[in-house]
Amino acid sequence: MAPKYVYFFGNGSADGKSDMKHLLGGKGANLAEMTNLGIPVPPGFTITTEVCDAYYKNNKKYPDGLAKEIEQNLSRLEKLMGAKLGDPANPLLVSVRSGAAASMPGMMDTVLNLGLTPDAVAGLIKKTNNERFVWDAYRRFITMFGDVVMGVERHYFEEILDAYKKKARIKSDTELTSDQLKKIVEEFKSVYKKKTRENFPTDPKVQLQKAIEAVFASWNNPRAVKYRQLYEIKGLLGTAVNIQTMVFGNMGNHSATGVCFTRNPSTGENKFYGEFLINAQGEDVVAGIRTPEPIAHLEKEMPAVYKQLVAYKNTLENHFKDVQDIEFTIQENRLFMLQTRTGKRTTHAAVKIAVDMVKEGLIDKKVAIARVNPSELDQLLHPTFDPKAKKQIIATGLPASPGAATGRVVFNAEDAEKWALEKKEKVILVRKETSPEDIGGMHVSRGILTTRGGMTSHAAVVARGMGKCCVAGCGALQVDYKSQSFKVNSKLIKKGDYISIDGSTGEVMLGMVPTIEPGLSGDFATLMQWADEARKLKIRTNADTPADAKKARELGAEGIGLCRTEHMFFGECRIDSVRQMILSAPDVKIFKAKIAGLEKELQKCASNKTDALRKELMQVRKELKEPMNLYTSALKKLLPMQRRDFEQIFTAMDGLPVTIRLLDPPLHEFLPQEEHNQKDMAKQMKISLKEVQEKVSALHELNPMLGHRGCRLGITYPEIYDMQIQAIIEAACNVKKKGVAVYPEIMLPIISTVQEFDLLKDSVHGIAKAVMQKKNAQIEYLVGTMIELPRATLIADKIAKQAEFFSFGTNDLTQMTFGFSRDDVGSFVPEYLEKGILEKDPFQVIDQEGTGQLVEIGIKKGRSTRPQLKIGICGEHGGDPQTISFCHNVGMNYVSCSPFRVPIARLAAAQASLQQPISRATV
Ligand code: ADP
Ligand code: MG
Ligand code: MG
Repeated sequence: MAPKYVYFFGNGSADGKSDMKHLLGGKGANLAEMTNLGIPVPPGFTITTEVCDAYYKNNKKYPDGLAKEIEQNLSRLEKLMGAKLGDPANPLLVSVRSGAAASMPGMMDTVLNLGLTPDAVAGLIKKTNNERFVWDAYRRFITMFGDVVMGVERHYFEEILDAYKKKARIKSDTELTSDQLKKIVEEFKSVYKKKTRENFPTDPKVQLQKAIEAVFASWNNPRAVKYRQLYEIKGLLGTAVNIQTMVFGNMGNHSATGVCFTRNPSTGENKFYGEFLINAQGEDVVAGIRTPEPIAHLEKEMPAVYKQLVAYKNTLENHFKDVQDIEFTIQENRLFMLQTRTGKRTTHAAVKIAVDMVKEGLIDKKVAIARVNPSELDQLLHPTFDPKAKKQIIATGLPASPGAATGRVVFNAEDAEKWALEKKEKVILVRKETSPEDIGGMHVSRGILTTRGGMTSHAAVVARGMGKCCVAGCGALQVDYKSQSFKVNSKLIKKGDYISIDGSTGEVMLGMVPTIEPGLSGDFATLMQWADEARKLKIRTNADTPADAKKARELGAEGIGLCRTEHMFFGECRIDSVRQMILSAPDVKIFKAKIAGLEKELQKCASNKTDALRKELMQVRKELKEPMNLYTSALKKLLPMQRRDFEQIFTAMDGLPVTIRLLDPPLHEFLPQEEHNQKDMAKQMKISLKEVQEKVSALHELNPMLGHRGCRLGITYPEIYDMQIQAIIEAACNVKKKGVAVYPEIMLPIISTVQEFDLLKDSVHGIAKAVMQKKNAQIEYLVGTMIELPRATLIADKIAKQAEFFSFGTNDLTQMTFGFSRDDVGSFVPEYLEKGILEKDPFQVIDQEGTGQLVEIGIKKGRSTRPQLKIGICGEHGGDPQTISFCHNVGMNYVSCSPFRVPIARLAAAQASLQQPISRATV
């Protein structure tokens, strides 16, 4: 059977229906559906998206048989309407409308009033007895046909129209007289001829054919292509073309056109919402040529029509069970519906509408959960800029961490702290990039703005963790630390000047832009509760401070999946002790090795030769004393601080598990790199600046990310991990005595061999046992590991024999799998995305094909030796809905994400479990 290219709708029945959007486009499918529902829709027919597809595949040739089908459907339409295209006695006018399966508002083209020719004009004037209306329709037609079909830009026509209005001293098109419009039409025609070197076509069939072709062509106009890229609209065949009988809202004061929503799309309130214009046509409402009136006024102006409109909007919402965005036209008191589609709405409205509709019995909870986009919940959790406020945007960077921040510019962490804490100023920290040394300053800033680095740069990750607004990688800013200012274009912004940054859009704005505070509304809480009932995954949080832990718990976290102990090291005055510990550690190590060597020699050698050795040993011991003192005193200072941190975090998470990762990052992150910091260290350690600098450079690594970090530190400088383990267990004992239910999970980072794990696990158990004995307490704790190196995934079965839990550290795993440095991806990943080499940034959405495969291997192998192995994810990916769906499908037990992403994760996990029931039996 030959394929059907054209679908008719009219007279109460249609060939198509609403679920044929892929073939008929959203507009065409719903015009058919409305027709079938008995709603008054001007009849017409739809040329399928398959034709568009074939047209492009076939070198812009239409498939055989299309012309005939169009001819047949046009005849059918003409018969139904009792009017004929171009007929001088009773001309049929049509619109030629684009419409793809996905809504792309305003991206493609539409031509109205097609079929007007000098003959048709005469006929229509006679038939309607409304000369003004006919000339108005004609001038509109020439404009749209000229613009859409022939590429004569609109402004050529608009200038003529404006000149007439000016001459007549009138503001609105509606005041133009019939004579004026007639003259305007003549002028339009000559502009058309001048620009196209053709007469305006007088054969309506030619008009139709050209308009159809233009609508197909609009599928690939640059703005439509860009739009599809931006919104990741893929897999569509093309646009459909709808040829539809015209109805006229421009026939006088009993005619109108309008757009409405069945509910308020901005607040979600269940109240009819919309606008209309008397004596106007289609695009006038949206184009903003005249100010439309609120829909409520229609009730006064045309009560009967209003009543009908309300009835139809109710029918449509009940039928589609979702908010509808509707176009309508009133022709001399008769109402016609021209389009209906799912209404776009703010997140706030989406939540309210979903919850309301369940309460109204229109949808069930599952549908409600699916209706809200988890990623957008961000908007409900951070202050946002008042949409009514005026903004002067000076640059745009990456929207790295949502929120709206206003404050005075400072260029280093120290100033940030000084201004924020002492002067109580709101500050925005502007840096080329941030480093762990800036944590304190970042913490007190309202927002963070960097010129380099991507969505997973230090600034971005830390800011998201803190729930703080951040715009990263804003390359347009030229920051000059020396003069404490930055330049953008020709503007100079100095320290102390006010700026505002929007972490949801990446915009950088001049001055103070007012914000509005978020409200955790009752509906939001209700939706979250439904999500909790539906999900299988547990949701934990990445939290390093009691404040974060508390916040996350408020937002529904069921434990901490990652507590990074090093972040505690940057607090207050701790960094000095940490630096002292690190700078003295290598010396201690060297001396200890020397002593061990000498002692061994001493045992072996004859008694008459020992004197020299003994002397040397004494000497070395003396030399060791200084670094050893520094080392142990630093550790001693750190122990109670860490213990206190853990006590507070355990207390905040009373009754919930807390996964604590032992020291992980490369050492250089802690080292004093700037001279004034090095001088401070020299003073504290009572050594020279030069010695400090030598120690710093001795610890320098060529590739710190692949260097001396994680468990490698724990093995080579065991005292550091020992101190941390002691602090954890002591803290657990202390809070348990106060009645807190405490479940520490000690996590070892960067494990790549079973031997590493075994060694460290033994020391955890050893210390834990000693502490518990001393404190006379029993703590239920687990020892597990991060799985973040490809090797670890491959030997996960062996590791799982020892490890009680796995937590996939997908930041490092992605880095190691791709061999992409996390800190340098900004220089090439954007281009990779543009060129389609990567579909998504693999540091934001897990790369299922590669990294994900390693995760699956790790899970499968791990559970092969320990079937009940508890498995989670703690990388940045843990808060990404797509990754969460992956985690659900591979059978993880939980995901862990930054506190402000917890609600996102709860909803995404619910959506994952409603979409794809897990097949795995292990969970
Ligand atoms: P878009 O997809 O950009 O909204 P449309 O095809 O919906 O484009 O048409 C643009 C405007 O013209 C809309 O306001 C629509 O209601 C109006 N319109 C389209 N077809 C007709 C018609 N047959 N009669 C009256 N108005 C129409
Ligand atoms: Mg429309
Ligand atoms: Mg890691």
